[in-house]
Amino acid sequence: MRRLTVLGATGSIGVSTLDVVARHPERFQVVALAGHRQVERLAEQCLRFEPRYAVMADDAAAQALRERLRGQVATEVLSGAGALEQIAALDEVDTVMAAIVGAAGLRPTLAAARAGKRILLANKEALVMSGGLFMQEVRAHGATLLPIDSEHNAVFQCMPTAGQGGVRRILLTASGGPFRRTPLAELETVTPDQACAHPNWDMGRKISVDSATMMNKGLEVIEAHWLFDTPAERIDVVIHPQSIVHSMVEYVDGSVLAQMGNPDMRTPIAHALAWPERLDSGVSPLDLATSPALAFEPPDLDRFPCLQLAFDALRAGGATPAVLNAANEVAVAAFLEHRLGFRAIHRVIAGTLHALPHRSAASLDEVFEADAAARDIARRIIGALA
Ligand code: NDP
Ligand code: MG
Repeated sequence: MRRLTVLGATGSIGVSTLDVVARHPERFQVVALAGHRQVERLAEQCLRFEPRYAVMADDAAAQALRERLRGQVATEVLSGAGALEQIAALDEVDTVMAAIVGAAGLRPTLAAARAGKRILLANKEALVMSGGLFMQEVRAHGATLLPIDSEHNAVFQCMPTAGQGGVRRILLTASGGPFRRTPLAELETVTPDQACAHPNWDMGRKISVDSATMMNKGLEVIEAHWLFDTPAERIDVVIHPQSIVHSMVEYVDGSVLAQMGNPDMRTPIAHALAWPERLDSGVSPLDLATSPALAFEPPDLDRFPCLQLAFDALRAGGATPAVLNAANEVAVAAFLEHRLGFRAIHRVIAGTLHALPHRSAASLDEVFEADAAARDIARRIIGALA
């Protein structure tokens, strides 16, 4: 029996996680669930899974949840960022799904690492911001890190067993998002709803915009660097519009191993929940004979300049990836609120990186200082563009 905390339970990954968990009540017990503001959704999850704790990061939402659950279930409702760290490190929990979006996930995911948990990592921003420190904590406390991001879960499945070696390259696949063929001039005026209409994946709005700019792939290159201890030179990106091949590992003998499946996050979630065993995820089997032909092409960096920014940030090191991530979060939020054009997302991030070169990230304080400075500059650039 695995005992779970799900951080970001009310989001796209959280909901898919609970879908897989509900298929195997004999294997999983939900001990704690956390959301930010979606009271009704967390309330329904509490009534269904009867966790010991529920956290709403937002205080008013926590109060509303308390009232909504009163007299119906024994779940204790907590609130605030500190409570997120608390439920990530509970003694009675062995597995933590880290599925908060953005920098807000860093501290609770680190708390899970310091408590030596088995971490199912969806929150890629945590690794982008502070990969070195994060991996250090994972090792120091004997935590187990299992990637949920479909590409990294695929790479993990294709990697050699310990000591075998022989890897030449990691090949991350990318769908190219909804604007792969949109004329460049039209990209100036695309709307948030168009950007969030991903052709293959149904995801939260922030990562959907990241997929449309391909910053998502850039963040994933940095994520792969830390997860698989691989330099930028040995990580390549290939566009694969069908999202059937989730990523590949190339070996020195010329072998290329790929992991395939229908694009449904329940596959990597079930893989990580059950690892090293396997579990029925509810995903329909892949039928290659009737699926569209698989195509591959190199990414176009004029169309997707954010991908280059991420490669450059990884090479620059220090706090630069944290600056990149923070500027991106601010720019994407402004785009989603109709305060910034789609192509200006890149301008904001590039301008922020230019203003804040070469900062150190030797401590978590320095990471959060860089994060705060970057948010400040990004907001100023957005103000100046408006
Ligand atoms: P969603 O936007 O759907 O969900 C985000 C979750 O985080 C929600 O539960 C939300 O709460 C919670 N949250 C937001 N802000 C805070 C905060 N300040 N404190 C605590 N909780 C907060 O995102 P996704 O599920 O799509 O993505 C989650 C993570 O997984 C991201 O890092 C993303 O990059 C990664 N990922 C997602 C994939 C996908 O298919 N969706 C694929 C690969 C990676 P509430 O809704 O209650 O406000
Ligand atoms: Mg991914």
